[in-house]
Parts: sequence; structure tokens; C-alpha cells
Amino acid sequence: MNFILKQRIKFYTKKTLRFLNLMVVALVIIIGIAIIKYKPIYEVKLDGTKIGYVNSKKEFESTIVAQIKNYKSKNVYNVEIQDEPEYALKLVSRSQETNEGEIVMAMQKDMIITYKYFDIYVDGQKASSVDTLEKAQEIVDEIKQKGENAEIIEAETQDEMELPENTLETAKEEVYKELNLIQEEKIREEKITINGIKLAVLPVQGTITSRYGVSSRIRSSDHTGLDIATTKGTPIKVVASGTVTCAKYSGSYGNIVKVDHGNGVETWYAHANKINVTEGQTVEAGDIIAEVGSTGNSTGPHLHFEIRINGEHINPEEVYENIVK
Ligand SMILES: [Zn+2]
Repeated sequence: MNFILKQRIKFYTKKTLRFLNLMVVALVIIIGIAIIKYKPIYEVKLDGTKIGYVNSKKEFESTIVAQIKNYKSKNVYNVEIQDEPEYALKLVSRSQETNEGEIVMAMQKDMIITYKYFDIYVDGQKASSVDTLEKAQEIVDEIKQKGENAEIIEAETQDEMELPENTLETAKEEVYKELNLIQEEKIREEKITINGIKLAVLPVQGTITSRYGVSSRIRSSDHTGLDIATTKGTPIKVVASGTVTCAKYSGSYGNIVKVDHGNGVETWYAHANKINVTEGQTVEAGDIIAEVGSTGNSTGPHLHFEIRINGEHINPEEVYENIVK
């Protein structure tokens, strides 16, 4: 390399370094001014509209849900934000203030808030609702101690007005009321259940004109069934599912239908005007098997309803009275 070339490189290197120095100084001054005058913060947009600034995106996101929970109610367990805020890091004047609170308020307008509460069930029936697990637990524990079946089922709503306002006392009252209804229903069900067969359908609705066991000058023996008077042609429904064992005219019974329900339980329907079924036919509870009439030994249209266990008649009145009318 010759001398002239070396000198030229030296000259240009010096010039370049001087220029770079100048640039660095200028940059430091610019950055210095920028740091004094501006700061980087997040601009927040909701649904495309600028609504303010936050210092820390992460901090803002983590506090927002907590703030709303406190603001609304202790039953809030989920807050769904419809409009996710958009963040953009901006250099703005140091005097620019952040407005986290206002942004939270703007977001609240479009939030779906889910509230949680607690339903109390006794024997599978919803009996009451309370706002806290503690109340629910206290009631359920008390019910269980009495040997009854109770449980808590979590429920939710997005309508704050639907939250239960029961006190412990009113919730307890409701639960005991339901428990009583369930017990009464159990007793009723027992009364209409004969040998494990539930006779749950009302055969006809009418007026009882002759009870079981009474003697009458029109009969040779004591009454073996229950007489229910109603208008001629009224449909007679079978009280439980079974098989028709008799469907014909039979002496003093007139037109009679007998249905075998199993377990030795049979029901008889006598004095029918018309029979709708045939022997051997299977019937479902509630099927119309005949029409009320006054055939056989009868003084007016009525159903003679009889229950037999292994051929022996029993008093059907308790069953009849306990079928839901
Ligand atoms: Zn009778």
C-alpha cells in the first residue's frame, strides 16, 4: 500500500469519527429532552374509541376484575368483559394523567356479571335458596341430622335481582315446609299402594253413595266395594296398569271389568253402561276401560269400585280418597 492512500484513509476516518461523535451528542440531547418532556404509557381504546391511559397494562388487567367484584356484590363469581380493551404503547407528555377508574366504569356498562348462590334440595325437591354456602351448609347439616336427605346445589344467574335474600330463619322455614309436604306425600303414596302396586289414577270423580261393608236391602250380603255416583257415560279409567281378566255382563254386577295388576292385586269396575276392553288385553294406568252405567243390580248410574287382594275384597275408600283428584 502506498503512502498517499494510507494518509487518505487516516483523513477520512478522522472525519467520520468526528461526525459520529456529533451525532451521538445530538441523540443524547434529543433523548434527554424526550425523557424530560415525555413518558411511555398505554393508550386504551374500547370498541375503537380512545377512553384514556393506564400506566401498567398488566396491573390494570389484574385489578379490574377485583374492583368490579367489590363494587357489585359478594356473590359475583365471574365477570365477562364484552369489549376487550385495546392497548397501544405511546409517548405522551409527562403531564398526561392516567384514568384507570374511568376506564373501569366505561367497561362495566358492557359486562356480563354472573352471580352465584345456593339452592337447598330436600329429597330431590328444591326447597329454598340462600346467598352463602355457610347458610346452606348449616341448614343441610340440620336436616341430615334428622335423617332426611338434603343437598346443596350451586346455582347462577346474570340478574342481580334474582339473588336470594332469605335470612337463615326464612330459608329454614321454607325447607321445613317442603319437608312436611314431602312427608305428607309419602304417607299419601303409602295409602294408595297395595302390595307394592300403586293405584294412582282416579277411576271416576263423583259422590260416594254407598261405602264398603254396609248392608242394604237391595243386596244379599254386605257391600264389597265403593259406589261412586256420576252421570251415565262418564269414562271409567283403570287405576293402574295391568291385564284385563274379565270384561262381560255378570249377574248383579252388570257389565264388569276386572283388571289384574300383579302381586295378587285386582280392581273391579261394575255396572258399566259400556265396556271398552276385552279379556286378556293389557292396559296402562289411566286408560278408559268402560263407561259409567246402571246395569245389573243398580238403582242409578254409578261405578261400583272394588279392590281385591288374592281374591279377598278390601275397603277401597282410603285408596279412593288419597288418589289426587
Ligand atoms: Zn256397589
